[in-house]
Amino acid sequence: KEMIKDPEEVIKKYMMRTEEIPDEDCMICMEKLGALSGYDGVSRTRNILPGALGKFTRCGHVFHLLCMMAMYENGNKDGSLQCPSCKIIYGEKTGTQPKGKMEIYLLPQSLPGYPDSGSIQIVYNIPHGIQGPEHPNPGKPYTTRGFPRHCYLPYSEKGKQVLELLKVAWNRRLIFTVGTSNTTGETDTVVWNEIHHKTEMGSNVSGHGFPDPNYLDNVIAELAAQGVTEDGPRQ
Ligand code: NAD
Ligand code: ZN
Ligand code: ZN
Repeated sequence: KEMIKDPEEVIKKYMMRTEEIPDEDCMICMEKLGALSGYDGVSRTRNILPGALGKFTRCGHVFHLLCMMAMYENGNKDGSLQCPSCKIIYGEKTGTQPKGKMEIYLLPQSLPGYPDSGSIQIVYNIPHGIQGPEHPNPGKPYTTRGFPRHCYLPYSEKGKQVLELLKVAWNRRLIFTVGTSNTTGETDTVVWNEIHHKTEMGSNVSGHGFPDPNYLDNVIAELAAQGVTEDGPRQ
């Protein structure tokens, strides 16, 4: 359903052509910025010359335009770009989370470390299915282990803020991905994707439970690294 945006259009939106040549290497191809792109002849384009440089509008980092183009085409082509140097995300990054449901419940029980508030329970449910073109093995089935997965946040101001950010991350398909589980080694399965969740409520057997006084700040930082912030995407 998502439109695959023309890569050249996406790059033009967030990078300006520049004639200044910084005395540095391109972080994508490792060639000098004054030399031709290492992707010359690999990436096909209509309008981009192999020596052309582009500068990101907001952070100002410079790369070969052809290298950015190759990077974009290697990703899931969602219309967003991430600066390889400072990791700023331009546009709205989306992931490859398969179809499923996110449900939210309020529980009266408090979590260790948050004696004064009840808790928020998030239930993720993803049924097994067939991998799409955005997944490692398109056409092959993917399995789902441990679903529904139950996760917890304190029902505090910061907990509610994290919940709102997690809803945005879910809608952008960033919470899970299809790949290999670090824990089980199983391939072609649905796994967590860089945004940590607490899956134990009153215990901490797995290390993914409470108390953990840094958890809310850590997950806010992990969400920000995926471009999910209170102010929405900045361009
Ligand atoms: P994974 O092992 O590839 O790890 C990906 C990330 O998830 C890592 O950052 C890891 O630290 C984190 N992670 C690992 N185990 C976790 C857990 N129990 N709770 C929260 N975060 C966890 O990821 P995966 O394969 O998706 O999950 C690991 C295992 O945890 C799976 O075997 C899954 O079945 C199991 N699990 C079970 C439940 C349950 O309610 N029964 C809930 C969550 C995860
Ligand atoms: Zn380059
Ligand atoms: Zn940058």
